[in-house]
Amino acid sequence: MNTVQHLIGGRDVASAATFETINPATGQVLAEVASGGQAEVDAAVAAAKAAFPGWAATPVKERARLLRRLGDLIAAHVPEISELETRDCGQVIGQTRKALIPRAADNFYYFSEFIQHQHGETYDSDTGHLNYTLWQPVGVVALISPWNVPFMTATWKTAPCLAFGNTAVMKMSELSPLTADYLGKLVLEAGIPPGVFNLVHGYGHSAGEALVSHKDVRAISFTGSTATGDRIVRSAGLKKFSMELGGKSPFVIFDDADYDRALDAALFMIFSNNGERCTAGSRILVQKTIYERFVTDFTARAGRLKVGDPLDPETIIGPMISPGHREKVLRYIGIGQEEGARLVLGGGSPQVAPHLAGGNWVEPTVFADVDNKMKIAQDEIFGPVPCLIPFATEEDAISIANDTAYGLSSYLWTENTGRVLRMAKAIEAGMTFVNSQNVRDLRQPFGGTKGSGVGREGNHYSYEVFCEPKNVAVSY
Ligand code: NAD
Repeated sequence: MNTVQHLIGGRDVASAATFETINPATGQVLAEVASGGQAEVDAAVAAAKAAFPGWAATPVKERARLLRRLGDLIAAHVPEISELETRDCGQVIGQTRKALIPRAADNFYYFSEFIQHQHGETYDSDTGHLNYTLWQPVGVVALISPWNVPFMTATWKTAPCLAFGNTAVMKMSELSPLTADYLGKLVLEAGIPPGVFNLVHGYGHSAGEALVSHKDVRAISFTGSTATGDRIVRSAGLKKFSMELGGKSPFVIFDDADYDRALDAALFMIFSNNGERCTAGSRILVQKTIYERFVTDFTARAGRLKVGDPLDPETIIGPMISPGHREKVLRYIGIGQEEGARLVLGGGSPQVAPHLAGGNWVEPTVFADVDNKMKIAQDEIFGPVPCLIPFATEEDAISIANDTAYGLSSYLWTENTGRVLRMAKAIEAGMTFVNSQNVRDLRQPFGGTKGSGVGREGNHYSYEVFCEPKNVAVSY
């Protein structure tokens, strides 16, 4: 069986303890993975700390060249990485090969360009000083990722972290470590010096805790659940951090919207990525005048989505990441029924091919007539389980949309420009997409408000976690 080790100071490092990573579509063990704790984290942070001065002093042009080379290597290996990602986390190959893995290469291309245009502010002050701002790297940064789109998230963090001159210790989710291991190999092949990028595998309570509380870690870029983010903020001490957390995003459709496009996008935003998507439009708010028609059409279309082998390019919905997560999603389906929501589709396990019998399957499920106060509308289910919620007026829509602990993304479908402008202001979310599904442009600030996080990443917003602004005041 394949064995995966930590990457520390450019070398493979084993641990006495290991865990298995499992194909969520079949239940088969894919690899035995080293399980790190305090000792491995100490070694990785020491390697990153030692590599920091040299990397920070590397000319920008050279850092940019190395990161571009890494992007090229990812682009050249899209088929292999996509297949590995699909096997390890169950995201369907149509998504990994066409969107998620190519985007990972773009993350490096983008930040290799960005740093070549990086500049600070300058202002002349009345006191006879010229002030200017230096954006300096912070040092060793902890990069912690979840399992839902692992390679994309890993590269989204690594690219700005390294581009700005920091060194990294990454910890991926114990449920999907394989493509980060691949990334580590490509980092070295690209010629990035040993120790600049380190990878420690392991569980959150051991490797994760040791990393975020380490005294030599200066910043944390975390993507994961709100509960874990909250815990990290408490145990990390005085460090810079960015928290990209959970969501329960409203997808609001008015009766003047382009109905067919809204229907397509609503389906995409909850069923793509198996519903395991932080920006999922999991609460679909539909104006009463078109509500029953929408329930019928949405349910009919959802019922035709192909569930099954994520390696089949025709498949739309793959397995849940783990048996435990499948149980959680099914538990919420039970709660929805107890709360009195109308179950109009699914609710159980789909029929799958015999070779997939050991996978973690959940049928695409639709709840209609959901009251936003219900638990299924308030909690992040993180599966293919949308809540359809009727509303009457613009005021109702805003009040329902904002009645949530989260504030990551939001979607607004209407042809009324005034309403767009009013609602874009009123909705409490880090992102609002108007007459669109979630379409990423790497210049956008990415992140959420309320329980969905603190800070933004992307473009110059990534300075917040990866750079220290230093003001220099020169008297003249
Ligand atoms: P999780 O919080 O359970 O785990 C995320 C990572 O944190 C894993 O690597 C885990 O091992 C680690 N971890 C756990 N406990 C830790 C601790 N005490 N200290 C340090 N690290 C610890 O989340 P998950 O189940 O892997 O991922 C799903 C969640 O991620 C969902 O809530 C989803 O919305 C969120 N997510 C957010 C975004 C975003 O950009 N906002 C993107 C993707 C996923």
